[in-house]
Amino acid sequence: MIKHHPDQDLLFAHAKGELSLSMAIAISAHCALCEACKTAVAQYTQEAADLAFNQHEIDDTTADNIDISANDISLMQSALPDELQTMLAQILCQPELATAPSNEPILVSVKNQHYSVPSVFRQHLDRPWQQLGKVSRMRFTLNEMNTRASLLHIEALGEIPQHTHKGNELTLLLAGEFSDINGNYVPGDFIMLDGHTKHAPKTLKGCLCYIVLDAPLHFTKGLSKLLNPIGELIY
Ligand SMILES: [Zn+2]
Repeated sequence: MIKHHPDQDLLFAHAKGELSLSMAIAISAHCALCEACKTAVAQYTQEAADLAFNQHEIDDTTADNIDISANDISLMQSALPDELQTMLAQILCQPELATAPSNEPILVSVKNQHYSVPSVFRQHLDRPWQQLGKVSRMRFTLNEMNTRASLLHIEALGEIPQHTHKGNELTLLLAGEFSDINGNYVPGDFIMLDGHTKHAPKTLKGCLCYIVLDAPLHFTKGLSKLLNPIGELIY
């Protein structure tokens, strides 16, 4: 069972479309795996829409001296040049899209393992995997300054050396399992950590995660010089 969820502020911000793309992907993917948060976001979205709609109603009443009839609109249309009139007519008679974009999960393959992930990742999976030992990473191209988002795969019996963070680390477990000092995680768990947590995640069976980092890892055990390549791979 999923134990770790995004907090309500994040869900509300997501419903209002206020999050960065890297975080919006994380919330969407979590909601694809978590019925409770999916329901909450649907409610918040409705509330945000109601608020916006009421705002429009207020705006409309202040503009009640503007009265445009259907007749005026057809007069305005007929005042357009012929070319634009034809284009407008063509647009208006287009059939609605027969197929909505698919929400079916998609397959991700790495190191001969195949995982099913939420459809929100569909347009970001065209990047190559970089590998170092048991760890593989596919970094997305989201262009968000220091914030970097990636898929991270750790093979069975793999481990990330103990580290902390100068910034924030979000991990969304998509498939498989891993554990750290705080316990075991299952697919859907949404884990937000800041610089106060030291941990060394390890996996027995292997795992695929979506991670968002806004600073490099800071290793707290061993020679950081030796660990730098793994740190660079993950960030
Ligand atoms: Zn949830």
